[in-house]
Amino acid sequence: MTAKLKEITFLTIKNLKNNEIILPGDYSKVFDQIAKTLDIDLQDDKVMQKELRYSTDQINKIVDKTSKSLTEIHSSTEKAQKAILDKDDVSLSHISREILDMQEQISFLQKELFSDALTKAYNRKWLNDYYLKEEKFPENGKLVFLDINKFKTINDTYGHLIGDQVLKYLVKFLQSQLNFPSIYVVRYAGDEFLILFGEEVFREINVEDKMKDVQEKLSNQKLKSAKIDNLQFSFSYGLLDYKKDENITNVLTKADALMYENKQKNR
Ligand code: GH3
Ligand code: MG
Repeated sequence: MTAKLKEITFLTIKNLKNNEIILPGDYSKVFDQIAKTLDIDLQDDKVMQKELRYSTDQINKIVDKTSKSLTEIHSSTEKAQKAILDKDDVSLSHISREILDMQEQISFLQKELFSDALTKAYNRKWLNDYYLKEEKFPENGKLVFLDINKFKTINDTYGHLIGDQVLKYLVKFLQSQLNFPSIYVVRYAGDEFLILFGEEVFREINVEDKMKDVQEKLSNQKLKSAKIDNLQFSFSYGLLDYKKDENITNVLTKADALMYENKQKNR
């Protein structure tokens, strides 16, 4: 296996090495494609761990690069002053490129900071530090509190790595079914997710009907892999309205109770 992994890694890097910026998603996409052509089972533990490790390495590299760029900005400013005085266009465009690169690095880091490492849904930091203003909602909307049914059994039956894939699948599924502006899928904790529906979306969909539809559709999906034939899973949810400036804690307590009622009904 190690030899094959080395081969895929080599081919992936070869494929990507001319890209100026490589995001973790780009790496795993190419890695997947090459693994498929070489007939590798990606559910193998070692491969999964490698993918996660690569993601962290990549972020660390960008953090290092950004902090170096920040240290260099002082000398760039001095260089820029001199270049302006000397009317040195070549140096000025070089400095401008450096600043653009740094902007890209910072926006990549910002995106990573606000997304859940496993599922790429928004994380709690995004909810608390970006979306909410002092724990209050910035506009009227609707909130869904969602929890996977019997997720522990999935972990116990198929193992944690498959459990992780189920979480990733759920987020992709929700994002594809709810692909409208002002809908945000947030990983709240473990197998609990929040979905926020901003006012803008009410003109496009009936949220209540849409959620019933998504719940039913997901429970009919059959997931397959090399080792698993038909994995089915479902979720329960609570849905309620919130008002601009309402405190999130009250809304979550009510939504959690509604989710629990829905769970009892599904049992
Ligand atoms: P219920 O229908 O009552 O919700 O039952 P449940 O088994 O889903 O119970 P609960 O929601 O309390 O269990 C959540 C489980 O999720 C417990 C924990 O082991 C697992 N979990 C939390 N985070 C992760 C993760 O990142 N990956 C995996 N594979 N499992 C996780
Ligand atoms: Mg659960």
